Amino acid sequence: MTSAHAELRAVFDGFADHTGPAYFHIGGDLSFRDLHQSALSLASRLISLDENRSPVVILGHKDKSFQIAYWACLLAGRPLIPVESDTPDQRLSNIIESCKATLVLSIEPNVAPPRLSGVACWSMHDLPVQTSRSLEGCIPTRADGDIAYIMFSSGSTGRPKGIKITYANLADFVRWLRTDLLSQIDFEAVSGTVRHCFDVSLFELWSSWLRCKPISALDHGEFINSRKYIERFGTHNVGLWVSTPSTAQIYLKDKTFDAKGLPRLKTFLFCGELLSKELVQTLENRFPQARIINTYGPTECTVAVTSVTINAQHIARPGPLPIGRARAGTKLSVQNGQIAIEGASVGAGYVNMPEKTKSAFPSTDTYLSGDGGSCDDNGLWYFSGRMDREIKLLGMRMDLSEIEATIMNFDGVTSAFIEPVEIRGVIRSLRVYVNGPHSIDDLPQIAQDTAAILAPAMVPKFWHLCPELRLNQNSKIDKPRTIEIAAQCEPFVFNPLNVNAKAIQDPPPPSHDVTETALDGLGFLKCAEIAVKRHGSMVTLALPRGGRNLTLLSDAKHVRFWRENEALFVKDHKIAGSGAAAMRSVLGNALQTSCVGENWAEFRKEMTGLLNTSKDWFLRPLSEATTQLAADLTAPNAPRLDKVCLDWATKAICDPLFRNSALNAPALDLLTELDGNLFQRMAAIEPDQSDTLIDAQIDKLLHQIADGARSGSITDTVLQDDSYVGSRDEKLRRIVAGLLAASLHMNAMTLFWALVHIAEQPDLQQRIADEARPFGLAPRRIAQTPVAFATLRETLRVKPVTAFLERQVATAFSLDGFRFEAGQSVLFSPLLVHMDNEQWDHATQFDPDRFLNGRSYPKDSYLPFGMGSRVCPGANAVNQQLTYAISGLCQMLTLDHDPNTRPGDLKQMFKIVLEPRGIVKLNATRRFETAKA
Ligand code: AMP
Repeated sequence: MTSAHAELRAVFDGFADHTGPAYFHIGGDLSFRDLHQSALSLASRLISLDENRSPVVILGHKDKSFQIAYWACLLAGRPLIPVESDTPDQRLSNIIESCKATLVLSIEPNVAPPRLSGVACWSMHDLPVQTSRSLEGCIPTRADGDIAYIMFSSGSTGRPKGIKITYANLADFVRWLRTDLLSQIDFEAVSGTVRHCFDVSLFELWSSWLRCKPISALDHGEFINSRKYIERFGTHNVGLWVSTPSTAQIYLKDKTFDAKGLPRLKTFLFCGELLSKELVQTLENRFPQARIINTYGPTECTVAVTSVTINAQHIARPGPLPIGRARAGTKLSVQNGQIAIEGASVGAGYVNMPEKTKSAFPSTDTYLSGDGGSCDDNGLWYFSGRMDREIKLLGMRMDLSEIEATIMNFDGVTSAFIEPVEIRGVIRSLRVYVNGPHSIDDLPQIAQDTAAILAPAMVPKFWHLCPELRLNQNSKIDKPRTIEIAAQCEPFVFNPLNVNAKAIQDPPPPSHDVTETALDGLGFLKCAEIAVKRHGSMVTLALPRGGRNLTLLSDAKHVRFWRENEALFVKDHKIAGSGAAAMRSVLGNALQTSCVGENWAEFRKEMTGLLNTSKDWFLRPLSEATTQLAADLTAPNAPRLDKVCLDWATKAICDPLFRNSALNAPALDLLTELDGNLFQRMAAIEPDQSDTLIDAQIDKLLHQIADGARSGSITDTVLQDDSYVGSRDEKLRRIVAGLLAASLHMNAMTLFWALVHIAEQPDLQQRIADEARPFGLAPRRIAQTPVAFATLRETLRVKPVTAFLERQVATAFSLDGFRFEAGQSVLFSPLLVHMDNEQWDHATQFDPDRFLNGRSYPKDSYLPFGMGSRVCPGANAVNQQLTYAISGLCQMLTLDHDPNTRPGDLKQMFKIVLEPRGIVKLNATRRFETAKA
């Protein structure tokens, strides 16, 4: 069997008597015969010089002597390393050192070879050429497994790596090119647009060599001189174009890049980047006769491993264009979600990177590409982006490539790439750079179309127009430089609320105008009730003062729809004024998504462990707080009920959290301020921005808490214990601030309403006191005081302190004949569902017995702690604490309404939690027996 070296050598031998041109370059041309002689001459020199056959760096750009140096190394068995002349010295030294190269062949004329210690540097232009045919005999054959070349990856897929390709790999590639790709292609010359340090250049080099047709090389120093080069390509009869899509994109800016200017150009061969439909369609318009081939592959697998001629069906099919079918001798499969490549194309690993080699090349002829992809029934592969482009934004996992691919699919878009926007190390939003549209005015429509397809969090907020694309050494988009240019102009800022309704058949839900007077006079809750009465359970509230539209979904059947379609509703923080955006300042980012349950599930586990009420943490403070509450309620000049309840909650929660009562007041103050002006802040927060002022206040308080929390407190434990993940600040935000925000006011107001209702029912108080008697003030399980627990549940039904739960629609849908758009805000209402007479008998009556004696209640009609993956993780702890307080208090006191409290004061009002409209007091009297105890 012919060796790979001999097979390649046979191609070279064909040059010997060929006087035609091999290479056209602005600095001078080269004939095949000259190439043959000069390469042979240099090869014999290399062979005689170095028996170790150490690697040789070929340093330079597109000069003709590259071809000579390339063949000389290949023949001599010296692994060649193409390096561009504009490579920084440091990088060049690193390459030389890592490969143990001993020779640099400098190919550019009039450029002094670099001086590098321990390495010989020759200028190709100073070397004498021996012309004897006898040289041919001195070329020894090389083994198939010997290294033919080493390419350093540009870093487009990570840290630059030296990728080793053997003679066998190269011969296999050349065979594929000859027998498959070139088999039906006729050309007089091939374009030479690709830098030699990028292996896609092997397409142009070997196409030329296999057919003995010249390359018409582009010198990248003249990249902008497209008119001149189009003329040159035309003069040289270029019939085959090889490049990255980005290079073609740049040429298309020139009107003469068409079939008239380049009448012989019949084939485009692309590799290295996603090929967009837009580009294909533009090329088809300019070159109606041309065939367009897409190829795909990593440098590690010898240039490319798939190919396909793009046809009309590929264009018509939704989604990206295919990358092709696997080349003969190479198999593609999906392993762990990525394209795995097996076979003769798979190279010999990385230079001096055994660990990296091991992980990327799990066996000698398998390479894991890190590219996402899939294959259809016909063996046609599709590329779906780099796996390492997955990020988390506000807790939602997303693949930047998927977003880019979606945007690139729209008419007029040729390139799109996304940069995450980080604020203090946290990704807060996305920025997209779009090339193709003529003006920034085209971007809003593209943003809207994107929002109609992707989840809201995936729609970039900042949209930049890229007036021009800059390319890197591999002729792929040079992102940093392109961004630099694009960033000079203001971006279009996308606000999902601006998304126009898409033309689906269904009308939007009915709308109800909420006037300023109504909102201020009646309150939000009353306005919502009026709207429901007038328009039905699905109604959009159009809020005054430039507020957002909120669509109420106030029925149990809506809750069911939500439960069954949880992914349709996200807790989206991109929208200014979403309650969640404001609460992000309090809770941090981790908890803020409902569409991916992962973070929330982890948080739930953590919280459940932490709040395990059998821990001593809660019990003692809880009983002390309850005793104190009894004392407060019976004090002369009865204090306001909401205030004493808040004191109770503060004590019961802050004591275990800090074990330092000096910290309770500042924690409460901050929380009060947060809750008090939440809505003003919500209105003021820009989409995607966090509330920096409040952020700073919270940080200050949390540091004060961290410094002051005593040993044995929850805060101290969490900070000391490494099993709670995250930095000190993250733990403080997630656990300490999270607990405070979720429990202080909520628990206080729940207790408040429980006591208000209990005060109306002396019998109930007695029953609670009776069942509690065996326990005194000792700890007990909720099941041991069922009446107290039922009282709590009924309180949570009639006064669910989170009366409304806000979500954003992730993707457009239709419900009951009304359409919902992505980005639309909806409000589910525990309160209105709990008060629905169709679901509950005598819904407005306070009747704890409905939760006693195993009585069932209607599904989807009771959700005091929310629903689905984000259901409150502290529900159990809340139940324990409040049941205990109700139970303990009824043992100690009898409660009655204070005659000074007017019925109107007791009416509920929705702020952030349900609050009374006026000042509420109770008359409390100590029960004889408890007092004695
Ligand atoms: P490189 O090793 O620099 O050639 O980069 C190889 C990477 O470029 C691949 O792993 C892919 O991520 C990407 N790539 C190559 N060809 C294509 C293509 N036709 N479509 C999409 N991405 C491509």
